[in-house]
Amino acid sequence: MDFLRLPTVSVAHFDGCTTHDYQAGVEAALSYLGSIGRFVKPGQRVLLKPDLMYDYPGGCGYTSSPQFVAAVARAVSDVGAAVIVGDSPFVLRGNITDFWRVAGILDAAEQGHFELVNFEMSGSQAVALETRVYYISRAVLEADAVINLPRLKYDRWTGFAGGIRNMLGTLPGFQKGRLYKEVSGGRELADIMVDIFSVVRPVLTIAEAVPVNLDETSLSRGGAYIVASSDTVAIDTVLSEMLRLDQTKIHTTRAAADAGLGIGWAEAIRLAGSPLNLTGNEFRQHSPVGRKAVLRKMARGIVEPYVWMKSSVNGDLCSGCGTCLDSCPTKAIQMPVGTSTPRINYNLCICCWAGLANCPTQAIYLEESRAVRKLFPVSSHSRDATSIS
Ligand code: SF4
Ligand code: SF4
Repeated sequence: MDFLRLPTVSVAHFDGCTTHDYQAGVEAALSYLGSIGRFVKPGQRVLLKPDLMYDYPGGCGYTSSPQFVAAVARAVSDVGAAVIVGDSPFVLRGNITDFWRVAGILDAAEQGHFELVNFEMSGSQAVALETRVYYISRAVLEADAVINLPRLKYDRWTGFAGGIRNMLGTLPGFQKGRLYKEVSGGRELADIMVDIFSVVRPVLTIAEAVPVNLDETSLSRGGAYIVASSDTVAIDTVLSEMLRLDQTKIHTTRAAADAGLGIGWAEAIRLAGSPLNLTGNEFRQHSPVGRKAVLRKMARGIVEPYVWMKSSVNGDLCSGCGTCLDSCPTKAIQMPVGTSTPRINYNLCICCWAGLANCPTQAIYLEESRAVRKLFPVSSHSRDATSIS
């Protein structure tokens, strides 16, 4: 084994919840890797990819803390790079601005820390791999560098949610939901996550390993850490080992290591910085995507046909401008000869929501099945945000 090529995973313990506290943690974690200047250069457009999959307040355990994202953005912009931040929600209802407000990320952006990018609006590009074609956000593919900001938590399907899984949010729209419907189980889903990770390779992964509902009480019970490495697979390996998870069941890490995308053996990874002491219990926050039993049935095809979302056109609001035709990556939106209202060919549609996000008159809207409403209820946080606007 070539010792010089062993990846380093750096760990910084911190004990506060403010942006300043996070900044100290991020700076310490980066210092063990050299500096952030090793990974990003002045003048680059750097995309930060946090975990904003659900419309829950940042820091609650499901999603990235805005303070964390702001702290990383500050470090990157200090190098002289432009910072953009984006993620595609698992299920997006209504206005993305409301979603960002709930997640707390809008405030951070308005304070000038970074620019938010709407993956649905910026469109996607087809990337054909051996197994399937993925439509990945253009904002991600066109960035000069991507920094991956996962939030450590468990995942019902893949056992563990770390840096590799976080790349799933680079698929705009309900493509993610379609993939969950298509797979037969966690192993296949892990392969999909590794596929996407093989296309979107972050220059740096900085994980937020903090307890659920980070506050002074939870901090007094356990540690909060920032964990960083240029090797995402190494970070996932270290974190899942610390949580004492059965490594043979963490297929994302195994498959990515086998594909040569990083190092997946703890013995081959150098740790730097603070000792990492995760008990596991404070991270026992599963993804809120439905109940395990329901998802299992869905995978077996019982519920699956009833789980759908689709975009539709309201002819009364349509001006016939044609913007949606240009936005659609699969040419699923067509304007029949002799008409001025587009039609959608659902056989071609990949549910990326680009037409909807770009329609100037809101003539394109989302339809969803009852099963989707049951599985992904609109959170009270989201309702509050919507009533504010
Ligand atoms: S973008 Fe909207 S308004 Fe323009 S053609 Fe499409 S549906 Fe009609
Ligand atoms: S019709 Fe086109 S733009 Fe609209 S969701 Fe389907 S693939 Fe995306």
